[in-house]
Amino acid sequence: MKISEIGGEFALIRRLMSKGESDPAIIKGVGDDCAVLEYTADRYLVVTTDMMVENSHFAAQWFTPFQVGKKLMEVNVSDVVAMGGVPRFAFISIALTRDTEVEYLDELYRGIYASGEKHGVHLIGGDTTHGNEIVLNLALIGEVEKGLLCLRSDARIGDLICVTGTLGGNQAGLELLLAGRSGHTIEFLEPRCRSASEGSVIARHANAMIDVSDGLGSEVRHICEESGVGARIDCEKIPLSPEVIAAALALGKDPYDFALYGGEDFELVFTVPPAKLAGLKEEFSDFSVVGSVVPKEEGMYLIKNNASIDIGRGYDHFTE
Ligand code: ADP
Ligand code: MG
Repeated sequence: MKISEIGGEFALIRRLMSKGESDPAIIKGVGDDCAVLEYTADRYLVVTTDMMVENSHFAAQWFTPFQVGKKLMEVNVSDVVAMGGVPRFAFISIALTRDTEVEYLDELYRGIYASGEKHGVHLIGGDTTHGNEIVLNLALIGEVEKGLLCLRSDARIGDLICVTGTLGGNQAGLELLLAGRSGHTIEFLEPRCRSASEGSVIARHANAMIDVSDGLGSEVRHICEESGVGARIDCEKIPLSPEVIAAALALGKDPYDFALYGGEDFELVFTVPPAKLAGLKEEFSDFSVVGSVVPKEEGMYLIKNNASIDIGRGYDHFTE
């Protein structure tokens, strides 16, 4: 059987990891933005890793090596922040082709360091090898106060579903570049995740949290599946920037599709009890309420133009 036939990336991971792991130190293994491990009396360790492959994740004609390095760090920091955590230490593993320019790597690392310094991450190791194309992997260790840990699995019925910033910028940029159009491409070329201080403020009020790596639809689905609940999203409440609306108009596309089924916006999706909303707003207000958590039996649906439609799955590495 080919991996394209197995039913997607998550079905593959479930199959590979079906044995499961149990150890008193494992608070959460597979299934969240980071693994969560016992650490000190009042803190957990959180660990994540993300890989990027040349031409699949970054096309050399679009991304400078500096941008590639920045993105590699941001995608990982985003996962630590989505747990309510603070990123600390990184390992970088790289496969290089024989003709990779040293100057390319200098710029790549300049980007890694630029983002790493912004987020307080120290590089402490990695691995170097060769291959037929450039492959980059970053593993990131962070820590989280036990009381702040935000899992995907903690959403409660009645919670409001919220999203930080605006969505769709990453997909809008990609589609503009694919169409050979100029315009608002910066969110695709230089995605920026939320900071640990923003994440921890949200974590003090939120029940569940996840970062947006595959589109709002996919992230809401993850929260629902892990929490055993359903969701209602009001399409018109999904926050879009004027630039994304303009890009969609230029491309003849629906900007809400960019937000729901697009890519790596690295905003945070979280669920918060209605009683805690005002308290959160006093400390952090760059977010929108887009829906609510409903009983599982009601399903996961999107209200759009007065019609109710199933929330789509978002990007999957093996089925698209
Ligand atoms: P994110 O988009 O937040 O980075 P992923 O979708 O990459 O998360 O991963 C989801 C979960 O699956 C995580 O817990 C991750 O550690 C786990 N995972 C991903 N790939 C593998 C793999 N090949 N083997 C085991 N676990 C995996
Ligand atoms: Mg994530």
